[in-house]
Amino acid sequence: MGAAAWLGIDLGGTNCRLALIDARGRVRARRVMSTRAAQGPDAVLGRLGSAARELIAEAQERQLGARGIGVACAGVIDPRRGVVVYSPNLPGWRDIAMVKRLTVATGLPVVLGNDADLYAWGEYRFGAGRGRRDLMCFTLGTGVGGGLIVGGRLVSGPLGTGGEVGHVMVEPQGRRCGCGAQGCLEAYSSATGLKGMLQEALQAGRTSRLEPDDDVKAMAAAARDGDELARELFHRAGRALGRAMVAVAMITGVGLMIMGGGVAAAWGLMEAAAQQEIKQRLHIIDPGRLRVKLGELGDLAATMGAAALAKEAGVSPG
Ligand SMILES: [Zn+2]
Repeated sequence: MGAAAWLGIDLGGTNCRLALIDARGRVRARRVMSTRAAQGPDAVLGRLGSAARELIAEAQERQLGARGIGVACAGVIDPRRGVVVYSPNLPGWRDIAMVKRLTVATGLPVVLGNDADLYAWGEYRFGAGRGRRDLMCFTLGTGVGGGLIVGGRLVSGPLGTGGEVGHVMVEPQGRRCGCGAQGCLEAYSSATGLKGMLQEALQAGRTSRLEPDDDVKAMAAAARDGDELARELFHRAGRALGRAMVAVAMITGVGLMIMGGGVAAAWGLMEAAAQQEIKQRLHIIDPGRLRVKLGELGDLAATMGAAALAKEAGVSPG
C-alpha cells in the first residue's frame, strides 16, 4: 500500500483536471483531459473512471496508495447524497449519482463538493489562505463563484448558496444577470459581464480598438495599452468587486479576500477601483484591515481542494 495519497478531480465544462496529493499536500501526479461534455454524462463518467484508475495504478507503482477521491463540480450539487443535481456547463447532467458511480469505478470512497467552494478550500489549505481561519475566495471566470470559510469551516448553509457572492447586488438598477436578477456582481466582474459591457458600449457608439467578440484577454491587453474604453470596463468590474467585498466583510467579518479564476489575471486593472470603493464605503472597520490577495494555485486550486476534502472526509461542505 505504501504512503497515503488522495485523488482530487475538478470536473469542468471544457477540461477535467486530476491530481494526486500526499499527506503533506504535495502534488505527486497530475493529468488534464478534455471533458467532451457534449457526449453526455455516461461517456464523461466512463472516461473519468478510467483516468482515475490509471492515475491510482501509476501511484501504486511508486508506493503511493490512494485512500479516497474528492470531486469538484460546478452547478447545483447535493454533497450529502453525492449527487450532481444540475450543472450548466455539463449538458444532460440531471441527478447524476457521481459519488456512487465513481466509487463503483474505482473501489475508493468518494466525496463531492461545489467547485467554487473547493477552490476556496484549496487556497485555504495550500495556497494564499494558508495559516488563516477566515477568508472569502472570489473565482472570476465565465461567471463569478465564491467560497466562504469562517473559523476553518466552509459556509454553504442549508440552501447550499452560502458564499455565492456572484449574485450579490452591486448596482440596484444595473445590468441583467444570467440568473434573472439585476445588478449582480457577476454581471460586471466575470468574463461574461465584461464582454457584455464591451458589446453594449460599442453598440452605443463608443470608440475602441476592440471588436464586439473580443475576449477578456484582448480586453486586458487593450487596457494595458491605454485603450480608454477597456480601462473603463475594468474599472467598473473593480468597483463592483470592491462593493461586494465590503458587503462580505460586513456580513461575515472576514478580512481576507482571495481573487482566483482566469479573469483574476487582470486584477491589476481592477485593483485601484476596488480599493477606492472599499475606502469610500467601509467605515465601521479600518479599510486597511481588509486584505486582498491573488490566489496562488491557479487552475489547480479546486483539484487540490477536492483532494484535501477527500483526505479530511468528514469536513465536508454543506
Ligand atoms: Zn445573478
